[in-house]
Amino acid sequence: MKMDVLALFPEIIAPALQTGILRRIQDADRFSINVYNLRDWATDKHKTVDDYPYGGGAGMILKPEPLFAAVAALNTESDAQIVYLTPQGTPLTQSLVEALSLESHLILICGRYKGIDERVRQKIVTTEISIGDYVLSGGEIAALVLIDAIGRVLPGALGDFESAHEDSFSQDLLDHPHYTRPAEYEGMKVPEVLLSGHHEKIKEWRHAEAIKRTAQRRPDLLQNLELTDEELALLQTSENKSSC
Ligand code: SAM
Repeated sequence: MKMDVLALFPEIIAPALQTGILRRIQDADRFSINVYNLRDWATDKHKTVDDYPYGGGAGMILKPEPLFAAVAALNTESDAQIVYLTPQGTPLTQSLVEALSLESHLILICGRYKGIDERVRQKIVTTEISIGDYVLSGGEIAALVLIDAIGRVLPGALGDFESAHEDSFSQDLLDHPHYTRPAEYEGMKVPEVLLSGHHEKIKEWRHAEAIKRTAQRRPDLLQNLELTDEELALLQTSENKSSC
């Protein structure tokens, strides 16, 4: 996977690429990422990339010329998905992250101020993504969220693939509870089954806990699942318990 990022403040993104999983997958040649300053494609001596909005009003707009030039320079094979981070985009979900992780080349455009000239969106942007229903001051942090989420699902990113497979959202369920040593802390005990060494029972317990937790916190996710009779009975029991 190759990624290019266009930003007015690349220094927000660059340090995060030097640690943890993102560093490791770059070192393993599974992920190549470059962060560019959009001003490198400005043509005047002041390196101007923004201008006043037609029609008046507050705030500046990122000009079309540097963005068109930058994308043309980076998308040499014409195979890239051009992603604009915007609060108006498709909400980012784990399934969208996984779909994007299969792309060979992504070019991320980070907006600033009031956003980017509409003609860039019409002509070269192929996907618009929002990281949530709130407004950030710039697209750099949104891009970082996307980069991190994609990076950790790339092959070889996590030592144990299963650990990503069981994470929240990967199967339309929230993750089950986790415990580590000590087995008892200030009177709070780790569930007995986890100490039993019985792998099948542990697996069943974790699955049941994931279902119960999802039903309590994100019942909307369960609508995507076809629950077995056993799972439905489990939910019924836990609902009865919580209403007692
Ligand atoms: N005027 C724009 C609007 O209301 O849709 C908001 C512009 S915002 C202040 C500046 C930039 O931050 C946007 O161009 C976008 O790149 C980024 N941004 C802000 N909120 C975002 C979000 N929720 N998801 C993704 N990008 C966001």
